[in-house]
Amino acid sequence: MSCIFCMIANKEIPSNSVYEDDKILCFHDLEPQAPVHVLIIPKKHIASLDDVAEEDKELLGHIMMKIPEIAKTLGLGNGYRLVNNCGEDGFQTVKHLHFHLLGKRKMIWPPG
Ligand code: 5GP
Ligand code: ZN
Repeated sequence: MSCIFCMIANKEIPSNSVYEDDKILCFHDLEPQAPVHVLIIPKKHIASLDDVAEEDKELLGHIMMKIPEIAKTLGLGNGYRLVNNCGEDGFQTVKHLHFHLLGKRKMIWPPG
């Protein structure tokens, strides 16, 4: 399988990681859109949020519980933005579930 995020999770291609455990990996985005921009991925291949199954409930909960911890270690005490792009209209370019964690700048709303 040639999923780029599976390859990153399997260390077949390098990434600048900031957190890892047996279920998830967090690493810096290649094209940061904010002074801090990391991606959080499950090591398991799930194509998108639309493809999450009942059996992934605990994994999704784990990701959400880890994000505030990761944000704290990255110095995002003043807040951050968490983004999931899903499917074509969501402009998802990598078909492996990931959450963008962005911070250290003031975000705008509504997003583009
Ligand atoms: P999406 O548009 O699917 O929500 O986000 C995909 C993100 O993955 C983009 O922000 C893009 O910069 C990042 N990305 C794509 N390929 C790589 C890669 O090989 N390494 C890293 N670190 N980030 C990548
Ligand atoms: Zn994958």
